[in-house]
Amino acid sequence: MIKQLQLDLQRCARMLYQQHMQLSDGGNISLRLEGRHMLIKASKSSFSTATYKDFVIADFNGNLIEGERTPSKEGPLHGAIYRRFTDAGAVVHCHSPFATACSLALEQLPFSTYHSEVKLKLPVKVYDTGSYAVLPKDAELIVNHYEPNSSSVAFLLKSHGMVAVGTDLAQAQNIAELIEETAKIFILGGLCNSMNGIRAE
Ligand SMILES: [Zn+2]
Repeated sequence: MIKQLQLDLQRCARMLYQQHMQLSDGGNISLRLEGRHMLIKASKSSFSTATYKDFVIADFNGNLIEGERTPSKEGPLHGAIYRRFTDAGAVVHCHSPFATACSLALEQLPFSTYHSEVKLKLPVKVYDTGSYAVLPKDAELIVNHYEPNSSSVAFLLKSHGMVAVGTDLAQAQNIAELIEETAKIFILGGLCNSMNGIRAE
């Protein structure tokens, strides 16, 4: 059972890598387990090469429960999400370039398509934790911006990346891909607008 979930996470990580949503050894993904535990990517493992053994069992404070690797240092962020939102079954956090670019200059991600407005439901806000990793106190502050048990949670971390929450891994991955697509279209739309201006001159 656990091995199948580890393999699901491995597959998700590979897909996100192939989509250029996470290069190098940043980012982390997790699944909720029974008993206030989660399966989460180990520190210093890459989405491109992580095998099922690189996903370890940790508690919601990010402490290792079972496995041979150290859990991601952002385990407390994932744990804070699982504590606050009872429907949350999986979390995708990655440093996808278009969403992260939007986080540099915006307070929230604009709905650049009708599809994103319908699917994302709530604004995807930007939070600035001033760090490359989300500290436990910052994780608590962020999740407390949302209603307890909210079923639509996704946000950007300034100069860092995105966080997408789903009832299961497939949904969390879908939301992450939609955020990146929305950010990409917003940026390309801005470029097209500026090109229109050039042609008119
Ligand atoms: Zn990160």
